[in-house]
Amino acid sequence: MDFEAVIGLEIHAHISTKTKMFCRCSNDSFDKEPNINTCPVCMGFPGMLPVVNEEAVRKGVIAALALNCEIPEYCKFDRKNYFYPDSPKGFQISQFDEPLSKGGNVEVEVLDDSGKKIKTLKIRITRLHLEDDAGKLTHVRNGSLVDFNRCGAPLMEIVSEPDMHDSKEAGAYAREIQKILRYVGSSEADMEKGMMRFDASVSIRPRGETKLYPRAEIKNLNSFKALETAIDYEISRQTELWNEGNPLKGPTTVGWDDNAQKTYFMRDKEESDDYRYFPEPDLPPLHLDKKIVAGFKKDLPELPAVKRQRYISDLGLSEEDARILSDDLKMSQYFEEIVAKSKDAKKAVSFINTILMKYLKEDLVGITEQKVTAGMMIELINLINSGAISGNIAKGELFEEMYKTGKSPKKIVEEKGLKQVSDTSQIETVCKKVIEGNPQSVADIKAGKDKAIAFLVGNVMKEMKGQANPQMVNDIIKKMLEV
Ligand code: ZN
Ligand code: MN
Repeated sequence: MDFEAVIGLEIHAHISTKTKMFCRCSNDSFDKEPNINTCPVCMGFPGMLPVVNEEAVRKGVIAALALNCEIPEYCKFDRKNYFYPDSPKGFQISQFDEPLSKGGNVEVEVLDDSGKKIKTLKIRITRLHLEDDAGKLTHVRNGSLVDFNRCGAPLMEIVSEPDMHDSKEAGAYAREIQKILRYVGSSEADMEKGMMRFDASVSIRPRGETKLYPRAEIKNLNSFKALETAIDYEISRQTELWNEGNPLKGPTTVGWDDNAQKTYFMRDKEESDDYRYFPEPDLPPLHLDKKIVAGFKKDLPELPAVKRQRYISDLGLSEEDARILSDDLKMSQYFEEIVAKSKDAKKAVSFINTILMKYLKEDLVGITEQKVTAGMMIELINLINSGAISGNIAKGELFEEMYKTGKSPKKIVEEKGLKQVSDTSQIETVCKKVIEGNPQSVADIKAGKDKAIAFLVGNVMKEMKGQANPQMVNDIIKKMLEV
């Protein structure tokens, strides 16, 4: 039988704020000594009162708007009751029936393994709501350790409709959400720092059916790779169960064992009734002024998909180049500054995507952590376009020196004597020498084999250490041989 997988994602992303969701503890807990960012509020002491973090609400609303969600005028917080040792309150403050936002969607490009676009999908977003995070448990030999630094940290939970059908689609959706959250500044969404985690709901059904069958929810996937592999594993496991005549009978919750590359059974999935949700009595409903929300919407930056499209249609970039340059906001700003001042998008793309990118990949650094500033790139492109240096010199020795030392290209050209030679007599002398040394090539050219010209030009360039103006060399050789 042929099956179709049905996949929905819940994405938890940390909101970039100075303080936690409902107290004034620092929200900067990465790599900190355990349990230093705590107070009676986030530790759930009796009688302590939470206060909503305005910055977290603002950034949540902005993220929801970027995902095309509706923002109702009122929303409220609810208690989600459960016991777990990383949650000292005995409940999580979340949002249940009146969340911050509803009904969004995001357009996603699905790529094949070589980075070519296969299709574009529109994934519906059920809601984005706010909640607080739990602490972190570390299991050791004789027991478990708990660190409450993260406890009470502001989270947005982004819930999608079950609109995805394989791991590639789910991975593409998750990556697009990460890009958008970073673009609007709502979350750094750094997977290595645990700022973004996924729960994937996976079920299968005979292809052609529209009904939803019981699903397995894979909890707490913390990388794109884990997300994709876990989904693939779960699809084949459920297909096998179905073929054995033993499909899932009810919803279950499973975990992902990264070492074994397998999901494992955790519990039958809890339904919302099990949490005994009720309105948070210590927090009033939240009123979101329509005018303020409309202002946020107006101030949204250009989002990655729109920027990518603009690079293709306005600047004439290939799809792949446009994607590389628009994926990261800082990279796109760098690129746009260079284009604005050099007026040469083609050279900007080629220097960033083929040359600089190679260095960044080798050194595993980002655009903001390296020495070649936009100003240096502009100067470099201007030097080529004015004929002061050759493109070959710029791409090779000169760029390498810029990247390593952070020195301005002008200065390096002076120091190393890399200026392009456009002096006719100097080039003529070398051309003459090369022609005399290669009688066979000359004969070939005379016999109509044009390729031999390139060979002679190459030899002249080599002789002149790449500094000759290649167009002039070409013209002079042709002139000397009268072809
Ligand atoms: Zn606190
Ligand atoms: Mn949640």
